[in-house]
Amino acid sequence: MIIFVFLMGTILGSFYLVVATRLPKGEDILFSRSHCDHCHKELKWYNLIPIVSFLGQKGKCTYCGEKIALLNLTCELITGLCFALAYYFFDFSYNFWEGLVIISLTIIIFISDFKYMIILDSPLVVGVIVTFVLKLIYFGLNQTLYDILCGIALFCVMLLIEQIGQIIFKKEALGGGDIKFAFLIGFILKFRLGLIALILSTFLALPYSVASLYLIKNNEVPYGPFLAGSLAIIFFMMDKFQTLFSFLFHI
Ligand SMILES: [Zn+2]
Repeated sequence: MIIFVFLMGTILGSFYLVVATRLPKGEDILFSRSHCDHCHKELKWYNLIPIVSFLGQKGKCTYCGEKIALLNLTCELITGLCFALAYYFFDFSYNFWEGLVIISLTIIIFISDFKYMIILDSPLVVGVIVTFVLKLIYFGLNQTLYDILCGIALFCVMLLIEQIGQIIFKKEALGGGDIKFAFLIGFILKFRLGLIALILSTFLALPYSVASLYLIKNNEVPYGPFLAGSLAIIFFMMDKFQTLFSFLFHI
């Protein structure tokens, strides 16, 4: 079963890379066939098997010999491994399925936000729908509606931070994608842990922001990957964060 989950992960990982690199350029992903980015030749099914095709073709396009970005292999392997780990730790439980949602979003947001400075709407919408269905099945309607309220509350917190940032820095401090993403974080983690995720993400982003400002004089930092990273960290280590929280605030 774990091998099956790993293989599903590699297939989806390969799809996520397509989503994260083609959608920001306005390319169709559902109805257009996969093609080589260099010679634009349409790829056959045997060029599209995760990992195997990359290794079989020695990392080059069969038609023009152009190198295929190593990101393809990395993305397939990492998604497969994370899926397998989620199965290993959680079996087929709510945490497993919701874990897959978080892993998938994290991978797509890492690529699209670092490469194109954008958090795509469609993966967020799919994430919200899948989370809604999962919560409905595992926790019932009342709990699901309460968690949606948590999402709205965290969305408002992020909106407030954005407004304050605009007043202080006199320019857009957060992207619209970051604010929409905050809704999903609150929906998944509930309000308290969601708030901790926002705080943790600023600590994760800080070293990168400082380095990027001083080393390459760039003050535009993608924030999405750090939000996604802290969502993943807190979700997968939730019990530890809950202990920490009750220790700090005696709640
Ligand atoms: Zn080619």
